[in-house]
Amino acid sequence: MKKLSRSSAPSWKYSPEYYDISKRTLDIGLEKVAAYRTWKHLDPGPSYDVESRFTALPALTKKDIRENFPYGMLPYDCDLGQGIRNGEVTLVETSGTTDDRVTNIWNQKWWDASEAASWQLNSCVSQVATGSHNEAILSNPINVGIISDETDLPMENRRLARFLYLNEKTDPVAWTPAIMERMIQELNTFRPAVLEANPSYLARLCRYVNNRREIVFQPGVVVFTYEYASHLYVRQIRQVFPNVPMVSSYGTTETGYVFMQCEKGKLHQNSKYSRVDFQPFQREHGGPFLGRILVTPLDNQWSYLLRFDTGDIVQLEASGKCDCGRNLGLILSSVNGRRANLTLTCEGRLVTLHELDSALSVLQGIEEYELVQTGAGVYDLRLVSQRPDKEKLSQDATRMLKALYGGQAEVSITYRAAIAPEPSGKYLLSRALFPIELDKYLA
Ligand SMILES: [Zn+2]
Repeated sequence: MKKLSRSSAPSWKYSPEYYDISKRTLDIGLEKVAAYRTWKHLDPGPSYDVESRFTALPALTKKDIRENFPYGMLPYDCDLGQGIRNGEVTLVETSGTTDDRVTNIWNQKWWDASEAASWQLNSCVSQVATGSHNEAILSNPINVGIISDETDLPMENRRLARFLYLNEKTDPVAWTPAIMERMIQELNTFRPAVLEANPSYLARLCRYVNNRREIVFQPGVVVFTYEYASHLYVRQIRQVFPNVPMVSSYGTTETGYVFMQCEKGKLHQNSKYSRVDFQPFQREHGGPFLGRILVTPLDNQWSYLLRFDTGDIVQLEASGKCDCGRNLGLILSSVNGRRANLTLTCEGRLVTLHELDSALSVLQGIEEYELVQTGAGVYDLRLVSQRPDKEKLSQDATRMLKALYGGQAEVSITYRAAIAPEPSGKYLLSRALFPIELDKYLA
């Protein structure tokens, strides 16, 4: 079988099924799905190995999905109406701004299977997550759960099967002490095996708990989803749950569960249900181990997303190994945030949220932060802090940002009572107010 190119990355191992299902998904996509009509001539063809064939194709964007949805995203012989009528699939809209928002064909059975497979990538999670376990979820109801901003919903109205949604408010900044007391009480009575949370939301609750020295039920495991888990948040959460394993799970509504952090701290690809193509950045921007990922969901007859650009930036584990012994699929040392989080140094080098967050994490006494790059070399850092010595804190933060972005960086520090999430319900933490065309930075 012919190959088109060789990669400098470690040679990752996959099961034979991974290649078979990748090939089947690719063949059906190119043969039967209208969205890829213009891609067909780029495919070098079946005499080449499946890796070369995927690599030759462009990335699929949310815009592509919107323009082709629903029938142009499905094989022409697939009967969507029938699938909806017999309850196999439903249509769901993802949250986000108009540019971000996308409608998806939701296949619950596949989603559950993808989630259950991801649990096996962490021994703490696989022990407590049985599929019938109690799970409390602390996130924005825009993303999951039931929205009720005006009225406080009693616990029974926030229960669904084995889940308890702790929060029904779209703005966590508006949580009253009574709401947070209620969350603590409910954790103590519901006693979840798994507490799944946006790290920013759980950190907000934990700051309240820390200030009052309250006792909170300790779940079997805390799983972070939806957002990058800032060092700052993890520190605040760790104070409340000192011995509970904390795990990051990465995925999207479009692609299911793609990466799970193992008990040794690395992230493993959920390779039974997702194919991941890695595109490294240029060396001067962190390559060859830092780059973006393109995800192809596998084995879902209602989804033929080929090389979907999820917007996630990741760092490959350069050794290609993990101490946990799992060796199938990509291994990441970190997920470094999203494309929307990227900023540029004064000299134009890409800075990921992970790099910024690591630099800021040495500052003590910060509750929240948000960095906005307003133009070339201009940075606006907003901080939430109870520290009385704000002048010293501002000096330290300025020094840190100049070390990261360059000596000539124009830095301004302002203090806020709180920072609100994006309209999507998620916190961004960092962003640039000008477009950063990622294609320019790929190797
Ligand atoms: Zn591992």
